Amino acid sequence: MSTGRPADDVLADLAALRAADPPTHGGRVLSYVYDPGRPDLDEVAAQAVRLFLPVNGLDPTTFTSVAALERRIVAFARDVLHGDEGTVGSVTSGGTESCMLAVKSARDLWRAAEPERAHARPTLVLPTTAHPAFHKAAHYLDLDVVPVPVDPATGTPSAADVLAAVDGRTALVVVSAPSYPFGAIDPVAEVAAGAAARGVACHVDACVGGWVLPWWGGVDQPWDLAVPGVTSISADLHKFGYAPKGASVVLYRERGRHHAQYFATTAWPGYPVVNPTMLGSRGAGSMAAAWAVLQVLGTDGLADLVGVTRTATDRLVEVAAAIPGLRVVGAPTGPLVALAADGSAAEQVDPFTLVDAVRRRGFLLQAQPAMVQADGSVLPRTAHLTVTAVTHRVVEELVQALVAAADEVRGRPAAVPDASLAGRVLTEGLPDELAGVMATLEALPGEVVHPLLVAVLAAAIDPSQE
Ligand SMILES: *Cc1c(COP(=O)(O)O)cnc(C)c1O
Repeated sequence: MSTGRPADDVLADLAALRAADPPTHGGRVLSYVYDPGRPDLDEVAAQAVRLFLPVNGLDPTTFTSVAALERRIVAFARDVLHGDEGTVGSVTSGGTESCMLAVKSARDLWRAAEPERAHARPTLVLPTTAHPAFHKAAHYLDLDVVPVPVDPATGTPSAADVLAAVDGRTALVVVSAPSYPFGAIDPVAEVAAGAAARGVACHVDACVGGWVLPWWGGVDQPWDLAVPGVTSISADLHKFGYAPKGASVVLYRERGRHHAQYFATTAWPGYPVVNPTMLGSRGAGSMAAAWAVLQVLGTDGLADLVGVTRTATDRLVEVAAAIPGLRVVGAPTGPLVALAADGSAAEQVDPFTLVDAVRRRGFLLQAQPAMVQADGSVLPRTAHLTVTAVTHRVVEELVQALVAAADEVRGRPAAVPDASLAGRVLTEGLPDELAGVMATLEALPGEVVHPLLVAVLAAAIDPSQE
């Protein structure tokens, strides 16, 4: 039981909670948040959300405003991503939902193609660098993942290796433009052509690239719906479309593929149900905000934001590549960069230790553990940076922090696993210095790590913590 409180008081509580978060604006957090550095865009997004807060996107025949917005966003995206009159799609709650829906569509069409497949379990062929949203889709939708190793030097798979994994059980092949871990574009054209020749669907995960690569310049290969054989593509509005969280687009080359994404039922005594996406009732605020931001920017504005993002990325890559003991993994195309250790033990900069040292200097990078692939090759432990439009304003400060942090930790032994940490994190929470925790996660097998991660994250929202 509780007594109601004055709204001001409640809002002050919310503000206090937010004050404890890392800064979402200003370029200090190089993952999770995408800041255009334009307060006017935040303002238009907030007003759009407010206008659409009470609407339910569940039924676009009742709330025609939502149908209009969705048509407009899909039309905008299909122009940018080189679709044609046949291209249709949906606005979803985010990249994960876009990817899961593409898998659902491909699975259902694969099963429908032959009577004996009706209840069979297909495969999902993907490079090891593909986003975990596809593993999640396979988990939820009963497919088997067939991971294809990438070249540790470039971070991309060979098209031949990907296609060698495709067989009669394959419902979908996934490629990324670019992939998250190392920012590299997979061989989209070759994979899509090979998949098409085998009658298999091919999804391009352009969750990051969809709203960046069209204006990046110097992209040396086609990667979107212009490529024959690409059957679907995802592009997140809440990343480089600079929309508030909760908006992404999934497009299909053909209407039939889009229809296969839907769920419809009349098997209950209520209203006839037709859900295009995973959700039932569907907030329209993020869709309205995403559309408003796209309109205020236009493709000119998007190009400008990509321009400064590229300038900042190029500067970072140039500086990082010259730091002794560090190297940039592969040749990233786009705003994602991963830094690995390089050179002799005496000169090496351990990425996990670097992330802690950079954090002390006011910037948050993301630690990515090493991974052993099925062919025995090892993808290195790295520090990951997502550059956004605002980064250019702080890029000199950021490169100074990187250089100073690398100087501080150079030659130190790489962070090593500590078995006692697992128990301590559960009782005491995460320490400030995360290198040891990350090294422990990296060393333990998935069967051990997964329940630990779940326990730590579940503990964070356990009401007994209040
Ligand atoms: C972010 C991302 C996703 C998943 O998107 P969410 O919006 O986080 O659900 C999928 N693929 C790539 C390459 C991404 O970067």
